[in-house]
Amino acid sequence: MQLAKVRRAATLPLMAAGYEQLLDATIQHLEDLKARGARHVPVSPETLHALSQPTPRLAPLPATAPVAPAKSETKNLKSEVAQPATEVALPLDLPGEAPVAPPPPLSLEAKAAAFASLRERALACVKCPHLAATRKNVVFGVGSIDAELMFVGEAPGADEDVQAEPFVGKAGQLLTRIIETMGLQRGDVYIANILKCRPDTPPGAPGNRKPTPEEMQTCIPYLHEQIDLIRPRVLVALGGTAMEGLLNKTGIMKLRGHWHTYRGIPLMPTYHPAYLLRNQALAEKRKIWEDMLQVMEKLGMPISEKQRKFFLKG
Ligand code: URA
Repeated sequence: MQLAKVRRAATLPLMAAGYEQLLDATIQHLEDLKARGARHVPVSPETLHALSQPTPRLAPLPATAPVAPAKSETKNLKSEVAQPATEVALPLDLPGEAPVAPPPPLSLEAKAAAFASLRERALACVKCPHLAATRKNVVFGVGSIDAELMFVGEAPGADEDVQAEPFVGKAGQLLTRIIETMGLQRGDVYIANILKCRPDTPPGAPGNRKPTPEEMQTCIPYLHEQIDLIRPRVLVALGGTAMEGLLNKTGIMKLRGHWHTYRGIPLMPTYHPAYLLRNQALAEKRKIWEDMLQVMEKLGMPISEKQRKFFLKG
């Protein structure tokens, strides 16, 4: 699809805010595909028709829509762009380049470049003007972009806002201890949040505020792109807000400890480390630890007898 065509549509008057957001996300997605080497995208005749309308009404994409296999599955990028018979392939506007159906796997350099460009965009983001006005830093994420394990939290707190790094405050130190107890270092995994800016609070108000649904909806495309680029083998959702943001599911007490799937990636919900700061009961620590043992098993990590017994009585 020609990006210029999409951009022209963006100038149409009276465009719904939701459509504009969807358009932004579409343009970004196409640009990322192009950066990854894609030359065509499958587009159904219905979509083509909808794009030609001045006031299209497109339903939001479900966050849980499977888009690509996890690393542990066969890495067949062809299947990511497989075209049903009813779809037509539109060129991605790369003059002089012969059409190639499936995008090649992302090279290390291309992945690093795509990630750097994503980071740059997030750091300059002002889509939530109230958050852009009050933040000290955009807290993009930290760790290895080749990580097999990725943790997703809620939003930066005061410490994270100052240090521009997720999970560096008290809850973060606990997360670091959990990661190390698993036999890993922070640098082995990737850590990000649903929201990249600290939710603003009235001056002098203590603590943090939960992100609003609008803030989450506005910011989540950055996280989707981070996950799409990293393609971890396993995701861990830290707390209820992370589960809401990623899978639109509520009730962390019941959700935790059971495998879910985010776009084909196994996802384990567990308690937010801040919960353990409030509730120090051994039984609660054990629950998070059991969730992490499941994660280690899924990743095929060695687990010692000592590790298996952590936080058990006696
Ligand atoms: N809590 C979160 O959810 N994220 C952080 O980065 C810090 C605390």
